[in-house]
Formats: sequence, C-alpha cells, structure tokens
Amino acid sequence: MSTERRVPLAFPLTGQEELDEIAEVLRSGRLTQGPKVAEFEGAVAERVGVAHAFATSSCTTAMHLSLAAMDIGPGDEVLVPDFTFPATANVVVQQGATPVLVDVELDTYNVDPDELARHLTPRTRAIMPVHLFGLSADMDPVLAFAREHGLRVVEDAACALGSNYRGRACGSMGDVGCFSFHPRKVITTGEGGMVVTDDDELAARIALLRSHGGVRRAGRFTFERAGFNYRLSDVHAAMGVVQMRRLDSLVARRRELATGLRERLAGVPGITPPAVPEWDGHVYQAFVALVDEAVERDAVIAGLRDRGVETTLGTYALHAEPFFAELTGARPGALPASHAAARRTLALPLYPSMGDGELDLVADALGEALAATATAPPSEAPA
Ligand SMILES: *Cc1c(COP(=O)(O)O)cnc(C)c1O
Repeated sequence: MSTERRVPLAFPLTGQEELDEIAEVLRSGRLTQGPKVAEFEGAVAERVGVAHAFATSSCTTAMHLSLAAMDIGPGDEVLVPDFTFPATANVVVQQGATPVLVDVELDTYNVDPDELARHLTPRTRAIMPVHLFGLSADMDPVLAFAREHGLRVVEDAACALGSNYRGRACGSMGDVGCFSFHPRKVITTGEGGMVVTDDDELAARIALLRSHGGVRRAGRFTFERAGFNYRLSDVHAAMGVVQMRRLDSLVARRRELATGLRERLAGVPGITPPAVPEWDGHVYQAFVALVDEAVERDAVIAGLRDRGVETTLGTYALHAEPFFAELTGARPGALPASHAAARRTLALPLYPSMGDGELDLVADALGEALAATATAPPSEAPA
C-alpha cells in the first residue's frame, strides 16, 4: 500500500489576483494596517450586514479583543460549548475569567440550548456560541437565553463566514462576531481574523485595544488603556480583499462538493453524513461525518492514510483535555455528547479545487477502510 497522499484534507484556493494585490501593497511601501485593511473590513462588514469590522491577526485575537472590550475578567464566567477548538475557551482564561463548558448536540455538533440553564450562576457574564464547521448554532434559543439573563453574546464564527441562520448572517447575531482566515477556513489571508459588531461603544473599545490602547489626539498618541497589538497587515489584507470577491463562488463550490460527498456516502455503512437542520445555511468549512459507535475512528483515519486520503478528527472535547480537565475538575465523559463527538467525528477532504475523481476516491477508500476495521479483531480485550 502506498502512503503517498493523493487527496489532502484541505487546500486553499488562491491565484494570480492575490499575487497582484500583494505586489501593489509591497510597491506602496505601506505594509502595516492601512488602506487594504480598511477595504477588507468594508467588504466583510457589507457582506455580514454590520456597522463595524476590525481586522485582526487571527480569530483567537479577535475573540480575546472582544472579551477585553466587554471588561470580562476575574470572577466572571463565560459559557463555552465543550466541543470546539480550544481557542474559544483559551481566550476566556487569558482574561482571567472562567470558561464553563456546556454540552453540545450530537447531530449539529453545536451548543445544546437546553443545557445552558443548568450552568447559569450569578457570575455568568457571556456566552460564546460556536458555528462549528460552518453550520450555525441554533441561535434563537441562545439569544433568548442571553437576553433573559443579561448575557453578552460573542459568536465564534471562525468557520462560518458566508453562513446564515434563518435569514441572518453568522457573526451578525450576537454583540460581536469573530471570523478566522486561517488556510483551513472558507477564505484565507494565511493567518488573520476579524471582529464585527453593530455596537458603537464596543467598536470604539475594540479599535483602541487592537492597537496598544492608543488614540491620536492633536497630532500625537495618548494611551488610555493597556492594549494589544492584534492588527492585521496590509500585506495579508490584500489577499483578503481578493478572497472576499471569491466568497460566493467558494461557498457555492463547497456546497456542491458536500452534496457530492453525501450522495457517495449514502451507500457506505458505518458512517452518517453531517446533519442538515431546518435552518441549514451550512458552508462546509469542514465536512464532518459521524462513524458508528462500534467503529474505531482512529483506525479508519489510519486506513484512509494508507489509501492516500488525508482525514482527521472533527475537533476536541475540551473537558477531556488535560488543561481543562484540571481547571474544571470534569471527568472524561461528563459531557456525553461532546465526548462521543470527539471520539466519533471524522473530517473528510473538501476543498474548492477538488474534482469528481477525488470525491470517488474518498468514498471508495472510506468504504474499504470502514470494512477493514469492521472485520479486524479488537485491538484490546473489552473492559
Ligand atoms: C479555527 C478556529 C479558531 C481559531 O482561529 P484562528 O484564526 O486560527 O485563531 C477558533 N474557533 C474555531 C471554532 C475554529 O475552527
């Protein structure tokens, strides 16, 4: 068997247009935050339908900036879904506040609105719904809960640029929304992020904190808070400007490929394609399927690797990771749906330049790998 990788998990789509825009920035000599950042921010704000957008060095820094602008800190608790990339909870810890991990729904992989109430305390200040893999969380009950209890809402829309929920854009529904432009996301600037908001007061604080806490008054900077340098460079924003022009076609292509994968998976036993809730809007930043309880997911990943197809786990159950296990005192499995998702999710290749041949290869290899693990003797005796 060949270990040569024939189908990668992801591959960003960029071209001559990005190179031309970057060249223009280099020739201008203005490399840090400048006109290209402003243009990129304008394009995202318009697309998402919000008043303010601030480009940042990543989604992680966008989320940290948001919590800092809300003065969330020591003594405060923030509700975070347990099944997410650790950055969502890390930024809460960076602010000296406490992330409180909430279980998810095993079908959408997003926060379970019914689980929020039992984690509410007098210290709860905010909730960070995640639109995992490009599918919106069920936001109506989340927003109603936040309103009822006076909580801030910070959307982790890292995966969800272009996605929507019942006619509203992901990122536009909370007090702030945060996007990522990492190469595995819907559009990319290499590294990069953005925070968007309709709240003028928050916007002013975000702008201040993004750049050292300094404001220009009478020709010089005065420093009003201990800020960060979380700016994006114009070199990166030049890519973003072009990528925003591609957004509609990138999303359309991702949806087409997801349909193609669904069709091919229909006849494959042992695996369930991602759910389509009534609000849909999915942009398939990742196509994450669920293997059956009895299937050894990591053996399937290894089997696919042997067949030239790169796959990976969906994401992490934070309560079972060492740092958060110690912080929260949770035992593995305390949040059962998240725990199951962490063990059973499989992210399949999906990227815009993928063709029918690759879709066939993925489905065939998956069928073989699942069949091989189903017939393999158990690797250890059951407990
Ligand atoms: C990718 C991702 C992040 C982190 O984004 P960066 O831009 O790499 O900081 C945060 N949350 C989720 C859900 C993500 O998928």
